[in-house]
Amino acid sequence: MPIIGIDLGTTNSLAAYFTSDGPKIIPNSLGEALTPSVVSVGEDGTIYVGRIAKERLLTCPENTASVFKRSMGSEKTFTLGDRVFSAEELSSFIIKKLKEDAENFLGEEISEAVISTPAYFNDTQRKATKAAGELAGFRVERIISEPTAAAIAFGLHTSRDISKCLVFDLGGGTFDVSILEFSDKVMEVRAVAGDNYLGGEDFTGVLMEMFMQEHGISPETLTLRDFVMLNKNAEDAKLELSARKKATMSWTFDGQARSLEVTAEVFEERCKTLIARLKAPIIRAVNDAGVRLADVDSIIFVGGATKMPLIQSFVSRLFKRFPVFGINPDEAVALGAAVQAAMKERKEDIRELILTDVCPFTLGTAVSVQQNNGFFRSGIFQPIIERNTVIPASREERFYTMAPNQTSVKVEILQGESWRAKDNVLLGEIDIPVPAGPAGQETVDVRYTYDVNGILEVNVKVTSSGESKRMIIEKNPGAVTPEQIEQRIEELASLKLHPRDKDKNRYLLEKGERYYQTTTGFIRMRIAEELNNFEAALDGQHSKEIEEAAERLRSLFEDAENEQNNGE
Ligand code: AMP
Repeated sequence: MPIIGIDLGTTNSLAAYFTSDGPKIIPNSLGEALTPSVVSVGEDGTIYVGRIAKERLLTCPENTASVFKRSMGSEKTFTLGDRVFSAEELSSFIIKKLKEDAENFLGEEISEAVISTPAYFNDTQRKATKAAGELAGFRVERIISEPTAAAIAFGLHTSRDISKCLVFDLGGGTFDVSILEFSDKVMEVRAVAGDNYLGGEDFTGVLMEMFMQEHGISPETLTLRDFVMLNKNAEDAKLELSARKKATMSWTFDGQARSLEVTAEVFEERCKTLIARLKAPIIRAVNDAGVRLADVDSIIFVGGATKMPLIQSFVSRLFKRFPVFGINPDEAVALGAAVQAAMKERKEDIRELILTDVCPFTLGTAVSVQQNNGFFRSGIFQPIIERNTVIPASREERFYTMAPNQTSVKVEILQGESWRAKDNVLLGEIDIPVPAGPAGQETVDVRYTYDVNGILEVNVKVTSSGESKRMIIEKNPGAVTPEQIEQRIEELASLKLHPRDKDKNRYLLEKGERYYQTTTGFIRMRIAEELNNFEAALDGQHSKEIEEAAERLRSLFEDAENEQNNGE
């Protein structure tokens, strides 16, 4: 019985298995390699996972969750309709889907998996990932770091000498750099650094900005629908620029057809600031690992955004050498996890020495910020210690009084990744008196200190009076016991994943729902008509009618796509 490798990603997840020709990706029920890491609950309680759920992210956002990997091991919960889930439970649905797809593809039961986590995940987050695998019905004896898995996929572990490798992972929203050292079947993660707010989406943002500038459109005038349309246009142009020297964006806004031709050269020029931001984490990782740029033997690309030629030329210029090519950067982690799984079966797996001393969550407080219209908006999260900061860490921020004659300041101690304070976990509160005076006259210094035992100490000091207050928060959130896992498996047993043999049809229905909601007029009426026909054909179970109705729907989606691009 094979052990499979799983890349449990923030945006997409994949599974792979080992063959005599090396590791191979396992296609999902739609025949695709990538399963979006999105979960949605239907009205009847059915759990939808992957592309179907991604469609529902737009049509039923209140029943759908994404990017929950960031909350693994935390106490944050996600409410989907009338059900509440933890990040590990949502992840377990993704893993369960990958398990079903793998069993179907390989034609046998699979009971064990090697699952990847970011190198900077601490012990609690790794345990949460293991728990997610167990909730999905797997035995998970091995968790592997993503950069280690990627390096293994490239075969770097077979080198006889000590080798140093830099893994450059640029995904949709995050950038991670890891320095690894291999020697004698041991892989050491020597350093990790990154930028949690930098990824492929920022490059899409540059194209959106260029388009708006060219046509004098101010971002505030865009509705959510406009934003989604322009973003899609920019995303398509960005992908085009990875394959060709120029791309054209065309979009009708305010009743006027507009276009912009962008050359690869101009795009690169406009991305200079973003590219400059890539450099700092690289230098930090290299310094932390105590190596020089020239000591790095190989550079490996992971993450979809590394397919941009401007990233490749930046890295080649910086290191005066080309990265190692040959494996799709989207697939490297899953393939490496599958190699590790095969090595585990042969009892010769690679030992990892990993970093675990990082703060797993962002710790911060709530503030009020001034909006463009001059009014203040309260309840905005202000990070103080960012997640993945190496611990022990101590950071201080200064805050100002908001109202005239304010007599106290309340500091909310929050943990989480949402910009809305209320969506993060409230760990405690400190109220401290301040001398009355004009707004903004009094200041308080708030210091957060997080130690290796996960203890957070918060000190608040009023600058003028010197008065201070202290609070200690001891928590070990998220560690799940085997008994709790057993209990949750029973509870989750009543929830059924959508049957995989019906995935293709369900996907068409959900996509139809999305197009129905985002189009108007004639095309919208036609979509409703054909959705009706398609449902009737499904009820009638006549495969010829089902296929014909499906084909008509697909062709309508193309029309809708063209119409949306032209904004009519
Ligand atoms: P990941 O999180 O690794 O799935 O990466 C997703 C990011 O990669 C998104 O911002 C995509 O737009 C970007 N991406 C994927 N393929 C390409 C490509 N061929 N060229 C440029 N960016 C890409």
